[in-house]
Amino acid sequence: MSADYITMTIPKQKRIALIAHDAKKEELIKWCEDNRNILSRHELCGTGTTARMITDRTNLQVKGYNSGPLGGDQQIGAKIVEGRIDFVVFFSDPLTAAPHDPDVKALLRIAQVYDIPMANNKATADFMIQSKLMDEPYDHKVINFQKNIDNRANTLGK
Ligand code: PGA
Repeated sequence: MSADYITMTIPKQKRIALIAHDAKKEELIKWCEDNRNILSRHELCGTGTTARMITDRTNLQVKGYNSGPLGGDQQIGAKIVEGRIDFVVFFSDPLTAAPHDPDVKALLRIAQVYDIPMANNKATADFMIQSKLMDEPYDHKVINFQKNIDNRANTLGK
């Protein structure tokens, strides 16, 4: 019988998603500048406006998805599900209502489901980026979704 959890590996070279709400964009750009040496060793992507601004201001190559309010957060969530993003830095703004708040919540949730490291403020991002695990592969246990589907189909089909 297959296991409830499977071991996945976050590789040494991480696929990092960078996102900042408007009031936090300057803070994230500065953080990227301060951590440019570390970030340049990894693969970077982000929501559209954030990615563009980081690239323009720091010269780091950041692949851009759609803008957050137009589905960018959901695209990043989907990449997590596909195992193609394994680290998220999201400087969210806790003081401003956003039209895409459900998308932000969905991204938080899916990062939890897939046990993805995710910083939602600068202090957490500082601790994460300084971790020795940034330079190593990291094994973690993720729910075995094939088994989960088998179980659900069998149980619900009865
Ligand atoms: P943006 O999206 O980078 O396109 O501004 C970020 C967000 O608001 O989620």
